[in-house]
Amino acid sequence: MNYRAVKGMNDILPDEIERWHQLEATFRQIVERYRYAETRTPILEHTELFVRSIGETTDVVEKEMFTFERSKESLSMRPEGTAGAARAYVEHKVHAREPVSRWYYAGPMFRAERPQRGRYRQFYQAGCELYGDPGPVCDAEMIDMLVAFFSELGIPEVQVRVNSIGGPDARAAYRTALLEFLRPRAGELSEHARARLEANPLRVLDSKDPRDQAAVADAPSILDLLPPADRQHWDQLRRGLDALGTPYEVQPGLVRGLDYYSRTLFEINASTGELGAQNTLVGGGRYDGMIRSLGGPDVPAIGFAMGLERILLAMSDSTPQASRFCFLAPIGEQAQTAALKLARDLRSAGVTVDLDGRGNSLKSMLRRADATRARICLVLGESELEQGVVQLKDLAAHEQRNVPLAAVVAAVSEALRSASGSEVGA
Ligand code: AMP
Repeated sequence: MNYRAVKGMNDILPDEIERWHQLEATFRQIVERYRYAETRTPILEHTELFVRSIGETTDVVEKEMFTFERSKESLSMRPEGTAGAARAYVEHKVHAREPVSRWYYAGPMFRAERPQRGRYRQFYQAGCELYGDPGPVCDAEMIDMLVAFFSELGIPEVQVRVNSIGGPDARAAYRTALLEFLRPRAGELSEHARARLEANPLRVLDSKDPRDQAAVADAPSILDLLPPADRQHWDQLRRGLDALGTPYEVQPGLVRGLDYYSRTLFEINASTGELGAQNTLVGGGRYDGMIRSLGGPDVPAIGFAMGLERILLAMSDSTPQASRFCFLAPIGEQAQTAALKLARDLRSAGVTVDLDGRGNSLKSMLRRADATRARICLVLGESELEQGVVQLKDLAAHEQRNVPLAAVVAAVSEALRSASGSEVGA
């Protein structure tokens, strides 16, 4: 039997992890600058939480959750991060401690979708949730933060789409208008959309099926039905984005057909790198009704989630970072023993060291140093040992010199420091 990973679930091996670390570090650095703090919630939650917060008539809940029973409880692997965070926010009564909370998370999510490029059954999301601020100032700030994030990552020309779906009244009015528009066209819709038409007409706008897209092309716009307070929120959001110079398009078809979504919705797409059809990097929006619907008080909230695999695909054009570490190549048993101590001294000084103790030829060790993209290679042979020196090769600068053993730690630290200065963003 050949064991293979579960379909749609990927291994991330050490040669790929550097890109992940870089992406995650950039995410943390940017969101922490906006005072978001990390929360970690469990991967398993009660199924009911997702049904309640994501909604019964969504694809995720209808057919994509990994759900199982254990001691008569129905549990599900989290398909996204907002529900667990909101549950934790309510459970720990965070609203009673502080009026505004800014949380972020990053971790694996699970959905039983048909796997393809950019769509997996285990995938990683990073996201932010901002509780207690009704916006729209923080809405504009959040969208602009994401644009800054993609620019920092070197992903050019992301498309930001925004919309407002108003509050519950606007949505009820829109639901009626949309149903009146779609009922006579029901025959043109996909079977799936037709079946869900009465239960959730707004979802038809979300459908990727070309028949549905054609049918809703001239549908009424929710923006025309916004009552004054929602309209004011929307106008101020746009003024905020305009003042920041954040590029965006208004997309009236961008909706989320659930009761606690309200007002601001946004999406960020890209079409660079190896991204295929799955080019939505971020989905986000305001969900002012959710905390209450989970048994908490009336606390407005806004958040977003982004798919890390897709962002890495979008970044696939960028050059990998140079490796800043030292490869230690001892020749002969005596040198190997001396190298053990030298490696430890270097590591104590904060230097990353790869010690090759296999006893191979110098040529083969140098090949290995090159292949691992080491910046510095230290060669320690018998003649060096006798003279009390080490040969220091700077593999990027193609220079070499002998350094007295006692001065090696300082010389390597210095060489790596100056290398890091010139390689930032490389
Ligand atoms: P959603 O939670 O569906 O709004 O998705 C937010 C983001 O997560 C999307 O824009 C994608 O970047 C990512 N995403 C969602 N589902 C998947 C999946 N099955 N595989 C990979 N990334 C996903």
